[in-house]
Amino acid sequence: MSAKYTRPEVLAPAGTLEKLKVAFDYGADAVFIGGQAYGLRSRAGNFSFEEMAEGVAYAEAHQGKLYVAANMVTHERNEQGAGEWFRHLRDIGVHAVIVSDPALIAICAAEAPGLPIHLSTQASATNYETLEFWKKLGLERVVLAREVSMEELAEIRRHTDIQIEAFVHGAMCIGYSGRCVLSNYMSLRDANRGGCSQSCRWRYELFDMPFGQERRSVKGEVPEPFSMSAVDMSMIEHIPDMIKNGVNSLKIEGRMKSIHYVSTVTMVYKTAVNAYLESPAEFEAIKPALVDELWKVAQRELDTGFYYGTPDENKQLFGARRKIPEYKFVGEVVSYDAAKQEATIRQRNVIKEGDVIEFYGPGFTHSQTKVQNLRLAATGEVIERAPNPMELLLISVAEEVKPGDMIRKNEEGLINLYKENGQAITVRA
Ligand code: SF4
Repeated sequence: MSAKYTRPEVLAPAGTLEKLKVAFDYGADAVFIGGQAYGLRSRAGNFSFEEMAEGVAYAEAHQGKLYVAANMVTHERNEQGAGEWFRHLRDIGVHAVIVSDPALIAICAAEAPGLPIHLSTQASATNYETLEFWKKLGLERVVLAREVSMEELAEIRRHTDIQIEAFVHGAMCIGYSGRCVLSNYMSLRDANRGGCSQSCRWRYELFDMPFGQERRSVKGEVPEPFSMSAVDMSMIEHIPDMIKNGVNSLKIEGRMKSIHYVSTVTMVYKTAVNAYLESPAEFEAIKPALVDELWKVAQRELDTGFYYGTPDENKQLFGARRKIPEYKFVGEVVSYDAAKQEATIRQRNVIKEGDVIEFYGPGFTHSQTKVQNLRLAATGEVIERAPNPMELLLISVAEEVKPGDMIRKNEEGLINLYKENGQAITVRA
């Protein structure tokens, strides 16, 4: 490993204990979750204290850390009980809380001393004076605003030694640092207190009504459905810039996302960090495979957010866009019998005899096979189709697979093809 650079942690999201465990199994150095109060994802399957304690134990068994997001905008009385809540988190062993509201920061610092505080991206830290300000107040780390460019990031690092966390992957808000009231207007759900209904992703019809004609015509109607949705971020090709500029934590967005997403994205970024620290040539060699892998779980197009310039109209999902390869998560490996060349798998989505499936596992391992000899594990009964979630199944697999490996299938046969000029395209396999 190059001694020149500090190894950044790969920080993964988890909406449930199961996802947390998967994230650590797939290489996360740290995981962030939400508690049942003070967070921004009221629908993200937030953790009870018991689940947090189990999460801390799992993290520490993997030499990892667990952070809890408490980054809501607190109105009067929202902060009630926060001191006790933070103390509880500290006593459970949570490694840090991610907070943006100064009221919660003050309460946490005063009433739960010893619990490290990370400034949330919601606080829009965009310059080194701001980072120094928070450092003087005792914060351990600042999560930069997503609007910070790479040039600014480098400048910030030159002037402060506080830990820097920066986003590398996931959804982007069109609202500045996620501070947006679209959802409040459209569905009476407060995006800044955990209720965002993703209104920017809905489809709208756009009418251009020339001044003075508003009541008489809808001239200039745009036929394409219109959305305000930004494309997602992916910094996979620029991990060297992140490492060279001293980022301490590479943050992956997505506490609402699936096991398929969490395992894939975590594995990809961990592989990228390992490869680059081994040698830049190793990173360049594996980069196309990492990019193609990320497209297997992409929901929107991918770009680099604000890091290399302010996003223009091509970085918004206006109208029809490219087709994205669609992979379906169909199961996970429970055990493998090498003598029988047979895997026991847990079904997560419909699997059929003859399906072409891909196994992938921690450490960026992959193999493909055709589903053969599909049977129910409980009775050995041969079946053509397995429709029941969580049912245990047997299939014949010649190449060894490991417990915890995930299984996906590509129903449409479309794959991403990495191009040297960075233009990813979708082609038929
Ligand atoms: S509506 Fe869209 S831009 Fe606004 S907070 Fe929700 S996801 Fe972000």
